[in-house]
Amino acid sequence: MALTAMGIYKSLPKTNCKDCGFPTCMAFAMQVAAKQKALTDCPHLSEEAKEEFSEASAPPMKLVHIGPEGEAGVDLGQETVMFRHEEKFYKPPALAGKIAASLSDEEAMAAVEIEGLAADAAAARVKALAGKSRVPFVIMGEDPAVMAAAVGAVADKRPLIYKATEQNADAFAKIAVDNKCPLAVGAETLDKLADLTKAAKDAGVEDMILAFDGRKTVQTIRDITRARRAALKKGFRPFGFPAMVDVSVDDATKETMLASTFVAKYAGIIIINSLDGAELLPVMTSIQNIYTDPQVPNTVEAKLYEVGNVNENSPVLFTTNFSLTYFCVEGEVERSKVPCYICVADTEGLGILNAYAGDKLSAETVVKALAEQKVAEKVKHRKLIIPGLIPSFRAEIEDTSEWKEVLIGPENATGIPAFLAKNWK
Ligand code: SF4
Repeated sequence: MALTAMGIYKSLPKTNCKDCGFPTCMAFAMQVAAKQKALTDCPHLSEEAKEEFSEASAPPMKLVHIGPEGEAGVDLGQETVMFRHEEKFYKPPALAGKIAASLSDEEAMAAVEIEGLAADAAAARVKALAGKSRVPFVIMGEDPAVMAAAVGAVADKRPLIYKATEQNADAFAKIAVDNKCPLAVGAETLDKLADLTKAAKDAGVEDMILAFDGRKTVQTIRDITRARRAALKKGFRPFGFPAMVDVSVDDATKETMLASTFVAKYAGIIIINSLDGAELLPVMTSIQNIYTDPQVPNTVEAKLYEVGNVNENSPVLFTTNFSLTYFCVEGEVERSKVPCYICVADTEGLGILNAYAGDKLSAETVVKALAEQKVAEKVKHRKLIIPGLIPSFRAEIEDTSEWKEVLIGPENATGIPAFLAKNWK
């Protein structure tokens, strides 16, 4: 049964001490009811309340921290939605490269590889790497004895153990429990994956990451989507963990494409082969695009822009600070090859019609923007070109400002070059 904020509130100490980071117990209870916080984030919760509520009130996807407790590291999980238009995605994926930047290519390839080493040598190698690294890391291997030695050597760094499979699940779960480290778990099918995470949880592993093979692209997109849906929509606890995807292949172009795909499709960590800048740039751009808040429009600064070598006779155009609108106008002005001023008003990131409908854009707004940006000091004429979508502004602008000749421009930015060619001599 879903917990209500009031039901949760009744179990809290009601002291409003703020130790949970919220101003009141009620504010905290509302976050727990919305599955944004775990009940156990209140440090003063009674044991009875913990037992009664903690499982039911846990967020559908666990927050997993990789790296030393309380220090800089990587936080994954605690996402709440399937689709970005519902709400923003909160935790941008971490990129896990297999090459240490501080080493030469040969040294790096040798240093990161612990497979094939004896346990002592593996432990010494990861300890040396941990001493050089300021970022959290993933220890990858299959042999439980080697992994136990390697993880044990740097347990205080809380590395991610990669990865428990059907072949080694019990032994890897023990390594994770003994060292209090997060564990990646992977399987051929979702059924087997659920069995493995249940078994690891029963063995005492708290923090897990669901590990997928991104090279099996179609299967992985399907599986990772189903796992997330089961966790978020059905509260299916065995999948209530963030995901990671290994897309490491030799072909840099393909690796970039796969990495970008799984930026959009729910990966919390993406394992890649190369940390080459040319490969990383498109992936980082994808991350920046996907992990913005879709409910907050992208904006440009509201100010006077100069496009080309403007002078006192250059046309003055007006538009809003919705970035898509502005860049369309700027691009078409460039295409016209007529140097122009573009006066951009702050409409809170709304385009022309939305701003007009939402009462964020009026003739008064236009006049105010022109005055604040001192546009009249830049040109000796008093002609202003306004978007064709707001022709009704013309009379009021001419009546209330020094801009006595308002020209109705095209409705669409693509019409700007032809408009300027015809109307600006
Ligand atoms: Fe209330 Fe607990 Fe938060 Fe203190 S830490 S304000 S008692 S919920």
